[in-house]
Amino acid sequence: MGLKIGLDIDGVVADSFPIFRRELNKHYGKDISRIDNYDMSKVYDVGWGDISAFFDQNVEYLFSEPKPMKGSVETILFWLKAGHEIVFVTARKCGFEEKITMEWLKKNNIPYEKTVFAGGASKTFAVREFSLDIFIDDFVSNALEIAAMSVPVLLLDAPYNQGKLPQGIKRCYNWEEIRCEIDKLK
Ligand SMILES: [Mg+2]
Repeated sequence: MGLKIGLDIDGVVADSFPIFRRELNKHYGKDISRIDNYDMSKVYDVGWGDISAFFDQNVEYLFSEPKPMKGSVETILFWLKAGHEIVFVTARKCGFEEKITMEWLKKNNIPYEKTVFAGGASKTFAVREFSLDIFIDDFVSNALEIAAMSVPVLLLDAPYNQGKLPQGIKRCYNWEEIRCEIDKLK
């Protein structure tokens, strides 16, 4: 039987952070070489409201410009063919951000059926609602919350998610590894 796989977008399917970093560097006149804190206001040493406003003003570009993460599209197509179900669960907001995201998925030939635009809400409600078997994310807080529901999590490695992980969360270094982990489960 196929698995129900929950998939985050930024930093998992979309290689967003290099674009965020490039544009934030331009905006703040800095030369930050890695985003090692998920809270980018700490990285750029500005208020959260400031970063938030920057994203609101430039959201179309920031969400359209990223390339898919290497290996992600092929793996998603492979999973769908193998009978797995995919639910995209992102912290992006419904409305305009949703529209840009749908266009991005289409442009990159990523089929989608179910999508959840959680905004600031925890992703746990989507995990419950869709009875997801496994979740793939890059944000440690999401991973911890979901793992606490006894749903296994694959965490795609990034400079901002370093550190020891509890049981139930497995660090993967690329999409090839993610694919292997899913293969083990079915
Ligand atoms: Mg993410």
